[in-house]
Amino acid sequence: MTHPRAQPWRHALAETLPVPAALLGFGLYLWWSTGAVFYLFNFGYIATAILVGGVIYERLPRPKRHLGRRLLLVLIGVYMFGYLGVVQRENMQIEGLWLYLLQGLFAGSVIHYLAAKLGGALLFGRGWCGWMCWTVMVLDFLPFRRSPGRLAGRWGWLRYAHLLMSLGVVALAWFILDYRVEAGRHAELWWLLAGNLLYWGGGVILAFALRDNRAFCKYLCPIPALQKIPARFSLMKIQADPERCDTCGACERVCPMDIELTKYIAEGRRILSTECILCCTCQSACPKQALTLSYGLDAGLEEHLRPRPHQTA
Ligand code: SF4
Ligand code: SF4
Ligand code: SF4
Repeated sequence: MTHPRAQPWRHALAETLPVPAALLGFGLYLWWSTGAVFYLFNFGYIATAILVGGVIYERLPRPKRHLGRRLLLVLIGVYMFGYLGVVQRENMQIEGLWLYLLQGLFAGSVIHYLAAKLGGALLFGRGWCGWMCWTVMVLDFLPFRRSPGRLAGRWGWLRYAHLLMSLGVVALAWFILDYRVEAGRHAELWWLLAGNLLYWGGGVILAFALRDNRAFCKYLCPIPALQKIPARFSLMKIQADPERCDTCGACERVCPMDIELTKYIAEGRRILSTECILCCTCQSACPKQALTLSYGLDAGLEEHLRPRPHQTA
């Protein structure tokens, strides 16, 4: 039976505090080194949202914890997409990153990719995908939370094709059309809106077609093509206590990314899959409370992923 009790306040705070504290420290450093108060506001907001969402997550009984995670998805997603993207007109799409880099601009979008999606993945893996992504802020509210498993074959390669396509579009805009980023211009806003509408539209269609909220993340999103490299070496990963685990498999039945946790547990390793988004759904579902977030140095090449039942040999 799932443990129904919530964590005490002090424990909830202690569990949540390290990440917002580190982010606030980073914001203070950028403010001090550049003099731009925006960094303090930006990282202060994100740190506060993580603190609020994280403490609520910890305080909720285990079967309801996903509500705390979704609250955080919305708090961060609305800020990133709504404020930084729409109001500030930062092109937060991956094409925006390529354009800002080509132009040598150390813009908010560049900091975002470095801190949250790529550099941050060395510390907290693909936690961005589990807790903060504005695309999934919409997709996680669809009705297919329990994944039927991975499509067999090379569908996962579509993300790499998408990444190459985004580079191609930017190369075309930059070299052929002489497109250049100009702060506050409408073009950046339209780029952001059109790109996100395509992501949301494609994500919803895929979710209904494959009966899986995270289908877009698994097959089409270009971000994991980059993010999986640092995430492989992430310090933070899920770990099982072999003394407690009775290999019941409840954790992998609820994993939205189809990870076969019991295989990693049987090998005596942490959950090394680069598909793990650190959503902690497995942790909440474990009747033995055998799963924890842990810190360590390791990496694995093999992905243990649960295939769709009718696709097993
Ligand atoms: S894979 Fe892409 S869409 Fe899915 S959560 Fe990560 S960044 Fe967002
Ligand atoms: S970690 Fe928990 S849920 Fe997963 S197999 Fe072991 S006891 Fe079951
Ligand atoms: S292994 Fe656990 S933390 Fe990782 S994606 Fe699956 S449910 Fe989420």
